[in-house]
Amino acid sequence: MTKPALDLVVAALETIREKSDRAPRASKAVLARLQTVDSVAVSMLETSAPPTRLRSATAPHAEGRLQPPSNKTDLLEPIRERVRACTKCAHLACSRTQTVFGVGNPDADLMFIGEAPGVDEDQQGEPFVGRAGQLLTRILKAMNFAREDVYIANILKCRPDTPPGSFGNRPPTPTEMQTCRPYLVEQIAIIQPSVLVALGAVAVEGLLGVRGTMRELRGRWHTYNGIPLMITYHPAYLLRNQAPSEKRKVWEDMLQVLECLKQPITKRQRNYFL
Ligand code: URA
Repeated sequence: MTKPALDLVVAALETIREKSDRAPRASKAVLARLQTVDSVAVSMLETSAPPTRLRSATAPHAEGRLQPPSNKTDLLEPIRERVRACTKCAHLACSRTQTVFGVGNPDADLMFIGEAPGVDEDQQGEPFVGRAGQLLTRILKAMNFAREDVYIANILKCRPDTPPGSFGNRPPTPTEMQTCRPYLVEQIAIIQPSVLVALGAVAVEGLLGVRGTMRELRGRWHTYNGIPLMITYHPAYLLRNQAPSEKRKVWEDMLQVLECLKQPITKRQRNYFL
């Protein structure tokens, strides 16, 4: 079971810890109460505020009612703004064309997590728009989803820099991922998808802090903060390795996702890449 209010507080505390010298604190009593709270007000996400402010943001009104929930697009907006202005990785803030926050439906049941923007994403400001992204869009279509039905984000919001004149992208470093991760944690806490999909081992390392081979990780359920997490190959892997057997592996992972989401699956869909 997800605990949205608690998730948001933990994400906010992580960001405060990142930004200040003092360790943030929350009392056990407040954390216990948050476990039963479903929604929170927008001020929960203003993470520059001290922890006491976080407490008051979730406190009941005088009449004993909780503040009404804000919609998720509104809740994401201040995070998008913080990401836009972020200079935590000075080298990436200098090299990026723009930050790449995330795209799709903030109310989505299904959220995909990639590693970092590439050159096309850096240019367009949207995740997964290059060749790998186009393949992801085709995978979504095969699942009967449009990009607008799901939410797509990366561990890193900036394109990892590459030496001038070099070709291609580089994977994010562990430090870059640790630095940027709190933004993704906040996004997930707001979106509260029913299912997460991590695309590739780098995304898994960024999200879970676990290093493993795809052979060990993919094709079975993991969890992130109580949310079912499917790990599958990054679409860039499928572009490099076009064997039907590899496509089928990804497709079997997506069939598990559809089943988890209780989406109807046709016989034709079941047999793709067989
Ligand atoms: N690869 C990723 O992991 N993310 C993108 O946004 C694009 C390519």
